[in-house]
Amino acid sequence: MRVLCDIGPGIFMRLPVESDLIDAVVVSHQHPDHCSDLFAAFHAWTYRPEPRDPVPLYAPQVVWDRVVGFLEQEPPCFDFHPVTTGDRVDFGELHVDFVEMDHSVPTSGSRWEANGRTMFYTGDTGPGGTWREMARDVSVMLSEASYQGRVEDKPWAHHLTAGEAASIAREVGADSLTLTHIPPYLDKSVSVAEAEAIFDRPVRLAVPGASFDV
Ligand SMILES: [Zn+2]
Ligand SMILES: [Zn+2]
Repeated sequence: MRVLCDIGPGIFMRLPVESDLIDAVVVSHQHPDHCSDLFAAFHAWTYRPEPRDPVPLYAPQVVWDRVVGFLEQEPPCFDFHPVTTGDRVDFGELHVDFVEMDHSVPTSGSRWEANGRTMFYTGDTGPGGTWREMARDVSVMLSEASYQGRVEDKPWAHHLTAGEAASIAREVGADSLTLTHIPPYLDKSVSVAEAEAIFDRPVRLAVPGASFDV
């Protein structure tokens, strides 16, 4: 199964596989940096001589509501399924569980499990809520790290510093931590150094084109 998880600007044109090979799409929340290329997929999959069969799309209900509102129609290329805390989706041998995160809008974090390996993806989140329980003992913690430096200096509570991401990865007993969602104006090596000072297992960086085995 090839499941595309979060589809921000530029993603659809840079997929590592031909887009027709995408079997399903998961979107964590409605913010454009996580879902704007749903519109690219809509155009690519709808306006051609033979449209694709609808592709399953899993996201909080409000994502669908926003997409439908913007397009003024239900995009026929997607078969939408709302997800919320406690929901599980099975893609063959790949199982995905969803949990509400600490963000300003409904946001579904997700735990991915296959062949005994696990990954937790935070989407966007602050440290609050009860989502950490679902991330316990994961093989890979794929965590947002929007900020650097002191927690007290965070401009917005509903994101994490790299240090917070590392603290949470340590707390839940993750085997490794991969940092993502670092804005372009920050030096990514500083984020990694801050995380490595707290988390003594491997810290990696999610950059465009990178690929990792879980
Ligand atoms: Zn967000
Ligand atoms: Zn974001």
